Amino acid sequence: MLNCNDISKLISRSMDERLAWHQRLAIRTHLLYCKWCRRFSAQTKTLRAATAQYADQLAATFEDRLTPEQRAQILQNLNPPPDSPHRH
Ligand SMILES: [Zn+2]
Repeated sequence: MLNCNDISKLISRSMDERLAWHQRLAIRTHLLYCKWCRRFSAQTKTLRAATAQYADQLAATFEDRLTPEQRAQILQNLNPPPDSPHRH
């Protein structure tokens, strides 16, 4: 059985890639009895949806005003490459 840590990682991955059927089944089964992961899943989806919407709005608002370099910079800030070090 997968624990909450495994499930939360799978949930995050499922936002970016299509999981194998047994992984999706494992998530679903786990969510049936785990309140914490249900909340995590809902929050992750909300956050992703909000981020996507924000990116769309930015693109629509600044489409005609930004230079290609500025646009690339914004996209890079929204979607940092996975292997880049965090700069907090
Ligand atoms: Zn859990």
